[in-house]
Amino acid sequence: MTNGNYNKVPLLDLKEEWKLIKLPVLDNLTEVLDSGNYILGDKVEKLENSVAKYLNTPFSLGVASGTDALQLALKALKIGAGDEVITTPFTFFATGEVIALEGAKPVFVDIEEETYNINPSEIEKAITENTKAIIVVHLYGQVAKMKEIMEIARRYNLKVIEDACQAIGSEFEGKKAGTIGDIGCFSFFPTKNFGAFGDAGLVITKDKKIHDKINSLRNHGSEEKYHHSSIGMNSRLDEIQAAVLLVKLDYLETFLEKRKEIANRYTENLSNLLKTPPNTDSRKHTFHQYCVELDNRDELNEVLKNSGIASAIYYPIPLHKQEAFRYLNYKNGDFPVAEKTSKRILALPIFPTLSVEKQEHVITIIKQFLESSG
Ligand SMILES: *Cc1c(COP(=O)(O)O)cnc(C)c1O
Repeated sequence: MTNGNYNKVPLLDLKEEWKLIKLPVLDNLTEVLDSGNYILGDKVEKLENSVAKYLNTPFSLGVASGTDALQLALKALKIGAGDEVITTPFTFFATGEVIALEGAKPVFVDIEEETYNINPSEIEKAITENTKAIIVVHLYGQVAKMKEIMEIARRYNLKVIEDACQAIGSEFEGKKAGTIGDIGCFSFFPTKNFGAFGDAGLVITKDKKIHDKINSLRNHGSEEKYHHSSIGMNSRLDEIQAAVLLVKLDYLETFLEKRKEIANRYTENLSNLLKTPPNTDSRKHTFHQYCVELDNRDELNEVLKNSGIASAIYYPIPLHKQEAFRYLNYKNGDFPVAEKTSKRILALPIFPTLSVEKQEHVITIIKQFLESSG
């Protein structure tokens, strides 16, 4: 092929994936449409049970999004006005947003240089008598230092919510992400590693009481129709998304394996040239993103773009510097690692159907850039 598209490399290609799963998904969708039952039905229940089994956890509830999963987790733990919740400033906005939405105060703590996850040794300093919980984010698909975090939480009697929106299938010492803290939250936004064809999410817990509470909260605080025991939300998963996800669950492990292969190829070729994700055998990384770190990030970003290669910055502005959180009165320099990382991080194309040729093209362009920039 000689046309210019040959070397075009997108960040993610959902259309290629669709070709692989089209027939079984269409079959499953037809069943839903024929059934006349479109919200919280058999497919949702089957998905909840299948995901719980995959994660090896007893309870699982489908909800409308990952953001809702986090908000429902806070509601179920009765966290609100006057409470403080500790989290990372280096995450997607929703992690901090839900804390504020529930009337509580987000308290940020800097990240570790190595994994970009919350730094356990910074957490203790941020604990006050109002601290009720920690929301841990497993960024890019790599689990945070859960052993240290759980130990601190136990000592101070804090709840731990795992924002595992980027980390389905990731592991920490043999345990799946989301199953270690009190509540685990997942997003099935289409671009996530396990994505639906619209918004969707899931909450898991080992605690039957929390499970029952969230089951009611996701449906207007109601256990019995038109009887409402608490103020809840409309956050139900629909049958169409569940039908799609049930098919995709069969592909999940294979797709995660593909991501790992791609990550390994990048790392083998680039790790002596710039900072690549750390190799962690005890923590199974699922590479929702493959991020490299370098001084002249913006130049490389430009060079990749000019070579038809997509790349992205997750995240260019840490949460404590977001306009929406100005009322928290954080200032420049409060979280130096998060601030530095936001200027140096760059996500490379990674998705299960990314070809070896395209990946090699990415590697070649990066190597050329690094050689020429000395
Ligand atoms: C995607 C994401 C969310 C939000 O999930 P939605 O399903 O888009 O609401 C929350 N936290 C993190 C870390 C995410 O990556």
